Amino acid sequence: MSASGSRDVLDLLVVGAGAVGGAIALAAARQGLRVGLLERAAAPTFSDATPVTRVATLNIASMEFLARLGVQDALEARRAHAFSGMAVWDGHGPGHIRFDADELGVPALGWTVEHAALEAALWTELEAAGVALWPETEWKSLDIRPDRVDLYGPQHVPLASARLVVAADGAQSPLRTRMGIPVREQDYHARGVVATVTTERPHEDTAWQRFVDDQIIAFLPLADGRSSIVWSQPEHQAADTLALDDAGFCRALEAVIDHRLGTITATSKRASFPLVARHARDYHAGRVALAGDAAHTIHPLAGQGLNLGLADARALVERLHGPARRDPGAETVLRAYTRDRRSENAFMQRAMDGFRLVFGTHAAGLPELRGLGIRLVDQATPLKRRLALRAFGLD
Ligand SMILES: Cc1cc2nc3c(=O)[nH]c(=O)nc-3n(C[C@H](O)[C@H](O)[C@H](O)COP(=O)(O)OP(=O)(O)OC[C@H]3O[C@@H](n4cnc5c(N)ncnc54)[C@H](O)[C@@H]3O)c2cc1C
Repeated sequence: MSASGSRDVLDLLVVGAGAVGGAIALAAARQGLRVGLLERAAAPTFSDATPVTRVATLNIASMEFLARLGVQDALEARRAHAFSGMAVWDGHGPGHIRFDADELGVPALGWTVEHAALEAALWTELEAAGVALWPETEWKSLDIRPDRVDLYGPQHVPLASARLVVAADGAQSPLRTRMGIPVREQDYHARGVVATVTTERPHEDTAWQRFVDDQIIAFLPLADGRSSIVWSQPEHQAADTLALDDAGFCRALEAVIDHRLGTITATSKRASFPLVARHARDYHAGRVALAGDAAHTIHPLAGQGLNLGLADARALVERLHGPARRDPGAETVLRAYTRDRRSENAFMQRAMDGFRLVFGTHAAGLPELRGLGIRLVDQATPLKRRLALRAFGLD
């Protein structure tokens, strides 16, 4: 593909083959657009021997979108696991809330999926759909022209040209930086410690989450009976947790989840991620649009980051229908996409912060008050239903 000559201009070039970039490229290709995808790392692969590493929960809206793209079966064959329950409780008060798929009249509340599986499933479909794929390729510079963007590799070698370039290149987004789009950052001074663990009691196809002071622990059920844990902790506590030996780590985990799943009999290696909320001031500049973590990151407490990114993907590609096909990078198209998504993502960020504040405070009487509030929500079926509809992507 050459950057010279309009003959070779793609409708859409996506930078970043994470789940969000892969979904955008595939959805646009399914709509008949000429699409390319450029990824800095090697092409994603997945097999039964691939160890469980990054896990996310997909809500129903995300899975429906992936099903429309034709990747749900491939995901289910790659250890995706439907869960039917979610239990959330307060470490300091009586508050407890439980959601059940049966009660909501849905087959599942969500799915735990491995990033590696999702990215590999998307990549296979992208190959079959004839998308121009450039793994192990990094752009070095770009020119914004009135009708297209030209991207270049090292030594100014032309890589590709497109009417619209989507930055789906993750939280640090080199493309967002290059376009000079400012980002508001809120550092939680906390880390998410992640691992895969084996528990004495079955996980009951339930996502378990407990709030204890300024820590949040989540156990996400996996297909093989193990659980993927995300333990959000202030930085100094995370450093102590990471320094524990495996036995010490398992004991600490049992305590923080209130022994709900019995003894923890084995753990994988641990990893951790800094927790920082970010929100780009604009979702587009020139002919470049942002999506997924390049546009926003969110506290992982409700497992919504990837779901929001996939909602961006859906919204953006929906905007490329009809007359927009003539020029997918037109200002009007990108403005409409920003309108569709920016306030929704901002709302979710505020909701996560509200949750953290309410659960992270244990001033005299507050845990009891909070417990009462949670119990009322748990018993007030219509309110609980509304909450659930939004959280699980059912609305
Ligand atoms: C601890 C933790 C737990 C989480 N749990 C959940 C959960 O349960 N549910 C959920 O929905 N979300 C969860 N998230 C959030 C979720 O992981 C992210 O929101 C999601 O992975 C973002 O996907 P993405 O495709 O936008 O970015 P990424 O997955 O970061 O992909 C970006 C891609 O761009 C590529 N790239 C970067 N720079 C370049 C370049 N210059 N050129 C070419 N390619 C480039 C990268 O190699 C990568 O492949 C969690 C996050 C954390 C930190």
